[in-house]
Amino acid sequence: MNRNTIRLIVVLATLSIIGIVTTQIFWLNKAFDINEQQFTRSVTIALRSVAKRLLVYNNQTLPNENPVAQLTDNYFVVRINDVIDANLLELFLKEEFAKRYVKADFEYSIYDCLSEKMVYGNYVSYDSTQITFTKEVNLPTWDKAAYYFGVHFPARTNNIVAEMQIWSFTSIVLLVVIMFFGYALFIILKQRRLSEVQKDFINNMTHEFKTPIATISIAAEVLKNPKISEHPDRLKKYATIILEETNRLKTQVESVLQIAVLSNREIKLKREDVDMHLIVEKAINSIKPALDLQKGNIIYYDEATNGIVSGDVLHLTNIVYNLLDNAIKYCEKIPKIEIKIYNENQNIVISIKDNGIGIAKKNQRQIFDKFYRVPTGNIHNVKGFGLGLNYVSLMIKAHKGRIHVISEVGEGSVFLVSLPSKI
Ligand code: ADP
Repeated sequence: MNRNTIRLIVVLATLSIIGIVTTQIFWLNKAFDINEQQFTRSVTIALRSVAKRLLVYNNQTLPNENPVAQLTDNYFVVRINDVIDANLLELFLKEEFAKRYVKADFEYSIYDCLSEKMVYGNYVSYDSTQITFTKEVNLPTWDKAAYYFGVHFPARTNNIVAEMQIWSFTSIVLLVVIMFFGYALFIILKQRRLSEVQKDFINNMTHEFKTPIATISIAAEVLKNPKISEHPDRLKKYATIILEETNRLKTQVESVLQIAVLSNREIKLKREDVDMHLIVEKAINSIKPALDLQKGNIIYYDEATNGIVSGDVLHLTNIVYNLLDNAIKYCEKIPKIEIKIYNENQNIVISIKDNGIGIAKKNQRQIFDKFYRVPTGNIHNVKGFGLGLNYVSLMIKAHKGRIHVISEVGEGSVFLVSLPSKI
């Protein structure tokens, strides 16, 4: 799959997810509105019936105009303008709500029309709406003036949502589907990145191996000529070329094999008390010839009072050496390196600062991945397999330390290695 197809798939997948979610939200809203209207209608009809039954009980008839008024979403008022018996009212409310499947807790209150004061009120929970009429309410004595009553549903929204079970179920199913979809997409992208990185590695390796192999075969051709024995100096020269190129190949093969072995096995360290001052000095000495070749210079700031860590000398030296090697390799000017070692909390920090090409923010996390090299178009001037920093980070982890990079493109980089110090 090429880059554009993947991009198209990602865009289409995102658009379809957005489309599905929007549709679901739209229908959820619509369903909520319908349920809400249904609730209001059922309550209004039920309250009208209650009013009618109360008036019939008082030998009155229901006036033409609707006695029920909805004041807010969850508060209804019924104008009876007559005497109200609280016991009867509660019974009628329970009966009428049950008849119309209004499954919600409610509070009712009776008001005096003249004083607008509440004379009686009660809370009725849905669970207790078995239609019984056992307890007699101890009614306050009020005069036979006109009254009206109000009904309030405190948890109306919750009740409507509870009625929408099927919608909650479909929403959860949809969420699970979207999560799977997202996960599948993530895996596709990850696989693609991996295959790209491996392709780069193979190209790189082929390129790295082709040159020495070609040189060796040319040198061998020359040596095959019987007349070469007449020129011992030439014979020696070509034999040396073969030896050098074979050694180069050997180191390259070893570096590839080493990382393959490392990732398959648990790393075993030959631990001993190591002085990081000595390690840094050793690494500086090893890198000196390469640095001199570029006419670069290195400044060493030793600010650590305690330089002892428990670790493997070989791997610790390789860590510092690899970082110094990269500082020279990825520099287009005259290399100026600063290496500093200091104590911080319980750790020894080795900071390696260069004036190289720098690393863009988006690539900084990946540089520690196996085979990863910062893309520079098709041509890579600097040779490598993208294994050095992976080795460095694996080894630092094995020593229970941490590595961190601070870098800006064109400004250089600082690699900070922090290792637990031995006290
Ligand atoms: P290699 O050097 O073999 O490519 P590394 O694992 O050592 O592999 O480095 C991975 C990548 O990180 C390099 O290809 C390079 O792009 C980038 N990099 C590493 N060190 C530096 C540095 N000091 N300055 C700029 N880029 C760096």
